Amino acid sequence: MIDSTLYLAGIRKDTGEYEENADSCQLCKKMIINAGIKQVIVRTGKNEYKTISVEEWIKNDELLEGKITY
Ligand SMILES: [Zn+2]
Repeated sequence: MIDSTLYLAGIRKDTGEYEENADSCQLCKKMIINAGIKQVIVRTGKNEYKTISVEEWIKNDELLEGKITY
C-alpha cells in the first residue's frame, strides 16, 4: 500500500449524481494515512476528478487543530 493511490466516488442516493464534495471522514483519513497511501483521487463529476495529497492531511491535521472532535 506504500505510495499507492486510492480512488473515491460518492453517489447521491436522492439524485444518482456524483457527489461533488465527496471526502473521507476523519477515521478513514487516519486509516489511509496509516496504510501509506500517497494520494486520493476523488470523482467529482462525470469526467471530473480532484487529487488530494495525503501528505496535506498529515500536515494539516484537523483533529490537532481542534476544528473537529469525535
Ligand atoms: Zn470514513
